[in-house]
Amino acid sequence: MKCEILPERCIACGLCQALAPQVFDYTDEGIVTFIDEPHALQEFIPEKEQSEVVQSAKRCPAHAILLHNPL
Ligand code: SF4
Repeated sequence: MKCEILPERCIACGLCQALAPQVFDYTDEGIVTFIDEPHALQEFIPEKEQSEVVQSAKRCPAHAILLHNPL
């Protein structure tokens, strides 16, 4: 599963990092990034982290997390 983030939509609510702390991190302004690739806008999500990322995408209030080929 590939995950895409849209930082321009992010409202810095903190939810995705709480749900998937192995995947998401934030800039100093609280805008979403990937924890291991801070400048990437897309990342392949390993199977063990997919359910958390699916929850993050479903619950992101700004629709700033998109999934491609979800489970
Ligand atoms: S859940 Fe959405 S709006 Fe909230 S920090 Fe994450 S990407 Fe940004």
